[in-house]
Parts: sequence; structure tokens; C-alpha cells
Amino acid sequence: MTLDVGVIGTGMIGQDHIRRLADVLSGARVAAVTDVDTDRARTVADGLSDVRVHPTGQDLIADPGVDAVVVTSWGPTHEQYVLAAIAAGKQVFCEKPLATTREACERIVDAEVAAGRRLVMVGFMRRYDEQYRAMKEVVTSGEIGAPLLMHAAHRNPSVPDHFTSEMIITDSTVHDIDVARWVLGEEIAAVRVLKPRVSSKARPGFNDPLLVLLEMGSGVLVDVEASVNAGFAYDIRGEVVGEDGTVELTESAGVLTKQRGRWSGRVPATWKERFARAFDTEFQAWVDAVAAGGTTGPSAWDGYAATVVCDTGLEALRTGERVPVVLRQRPDLYKEQ
Ligand code: NAP
Repeated sequence: MTLDVGVIGTGMIGQDHIRRLADVLSGARVAAVTDVDTDRARTVADGLSDVRVHPTGQDLIADPGVDAVVVTSWGPTHEQYVLAAIAAGKQVFCEKPLATTREACERIVDAEVAAGRRLVMVGFMRRYDEQYRAMKEVVTSGEIGAPLLMHAAHRNPSVPDHFTSEMIITDSTVHDIDVARWVLGEEIAAVRVLKPRVSSKARPGFNDPLLVLLEMGSGVLVDVEASVNAGFAYDIRGEVVGEDGTVELTESAGVLTKQRGRWSGRVPATWKERFARAFDTEFQAWVDAVAAGGTTGPSAWDGYAATVVCDTGLEALRTGERVPVVLRQRPDLYKEQ
């Protein structure tokens, strides 16, 4: 059976996922698209065969020829489409963020709990990266003993002019927040944000880099160095320090060159290059799970927790204080993960 997928939002990542569905993955095809910019949606559809263009996301979700929905529109629009997909009983893959406010995420969690089954997967693709998966396996196996600390760095070469210090937390660090919860298998209890010396490459008034400190429920401390004007490359680092050893991400797969007394290797230029395979694996896992009648991966609860931690981080950035994370009780639907 081929899964007929409808895509809401044909911007940058929407087009990338459409390419993935059309050319890379098996078991799915793009059946319909929509975008607030209808011309853009039409241009994308013209490059494929037999794709319907709908005027709105609601029309696309109601299309009986759409089996499952991908939401890749602008963050503040995610809630309405995810809720509509749940109401229609259709599986939905939503790019991060699940929604941009705690309340919106709670409405999604409530709707899914009322539906009595998981219908939502959130696009935290790092969980499908081979290195992060190997790191989680080592931590979960107990090989390095009880985790004590986690160090992470998220160095982005550059960002567009509309990017703000707040977005370092909501758009970049959000991935490290999800990774910390997933690798360590526990919730984040409090957040602090420190502001080191500002990079001369940052715009005036822009705090870059930031040091985000996540305090896990058990007391494990996670430090995330986040910068978005690093210039040289897209550099992602991670290390968990346990009582009996450590586990860390290595330099990305590739060759090591030795020449004239020095060795060197390639650092990815962009997030698209660094996580290309993770995106493919993530999407194939979703397609396979939906074809089998369910879903998989990061849940609406994970999307909710990430948004709440980001909100808490924004308050910590504003106040300079340690701010506790307040989550509601985790519903039974999300207990087995
Ligand atoms: P983008 O290029 O701006 O694309 C968003 C598209 O959605 C645009 O075509 C936009 O049209 C359209 N849109 C806006 N409101 C809409 C609505 N109500 N209904 C239908 N379409 C609407 O943004 P992007 O970079 O692709 O990001 C899209 C989402 O993916 C964001 O939530 C982002 O955080 C997420 N993302 C995730 C990752 C990751 O690492 N997992 C990476 C990149 C992006 P206009 O341009 O006309 O507004």
C-alpha cells in the first residue's frame, strides 16, 4: 500500500520533505499540498505528478484522498492543523515546534488523549541521528554508570536578519532540550541562561553566544553552548559524563586527511548537511509506522515539554534567574515511550 500524504506549508523545509517523500523514501507519495502562498504551492505541485493543490490546510485535511498529514507551515499555525488532523482521525507529522505556546500544546495533548490513541509525531530529527542513537544506547545500557553531566554545543555559522537572541533558545537550543530529555530519560526541572562576552559578529543588542543550563529532575546538569554567528561551520557537540565513563559524539562521518604534518576532516556547512540522513530515517520511520496503523517517535507530550522548557528559558534569559519548569501531569497515553 502507498500512503497518500498531504503537505501543509511548501516553504523551505516543506519542499525538502516533499523531495524526500517523492525521491528518497518508500511506501509514500505526495497526494496534495497547500500553502498560504497558493502560487508557491502550485509551483511545487507542478514539479510532481498528480498532486492536488488545496486553498487551505483544512481543505487538505478533509480530502478523502489524503491518508496522513505533514505540517511544515510557520510555527504559530501548527496548532490549528494538528487539531484538525486529530479531529479527522488522521496521523500527522508536525515539524517542530508542536505549537508556540504552552496552552496551544496542552490543547493538542488534550485532543489526542480524548481521541484515545497517538496521532501526532513531532519533528525532532536528532533522535534519528546515528551518533545520538548510539549515545543514548550507551547511557541506557548503564555502561558509563549514572550520568552526572552532559555538555553540548550548538554552533550555527550564521542566521537571517530577523533572528533574535530569543530564537537562539526557541529555534536552536530546542533541539538540545529534546535531546537532553530523550538521552537522559527524564524531564528538565529548571533553566538558567548565562550571557558570555558578546561576539563582535552579532548585531547590536543581540546576545550571542548564550550558555543555557538545564537542571534535570535527578540533578544531572546539562550545559548547552549555543551560538548562531560562529561563521566557520555548523558544529554540533555532545558528551555525557557518567560515574564510570563518558560517551561523546565524534566528528561527523567522513574521511580524515593527513598531509604535511597535520590531519584534518570536514565539518558540515549547514544543519541540512549534518542531519540529512537523520531526516530521511525519521520520515521513513513515520511512513512505516503510519502504514502499520500507528505512529512513532517524539510525541505531542515531547512537543509540549520542549515548548514549556523554551518558555522557561526565555524567562531565565530575561531575568537572569534560575527558573523552575512547571509541567502538568503526564497522561497515561505518553507513559510507554
Ligand atoms: P518557511 O520557509 O517560512 O516555510 C513556511 C511555509 O509555510 C511558507 O511557505 C509560508 O508561507 C507557509 N505558511 C505560513 N502560514 C501558513 C498557513 N496558515 N497555512 C499554510 N501555509 C502557511 O519556514 P521553514 O524554514 O520551512 O520552517 C517551517 C517549519 O519547520 C517551522 O516550524 C520551523 O521551525 C520548522 N523547521 C524545523 C527544522 C528542524 O531542524 N527540524 C528545520 C527548519 C525548519 P509565507 O512564506 O507566504 O508566509
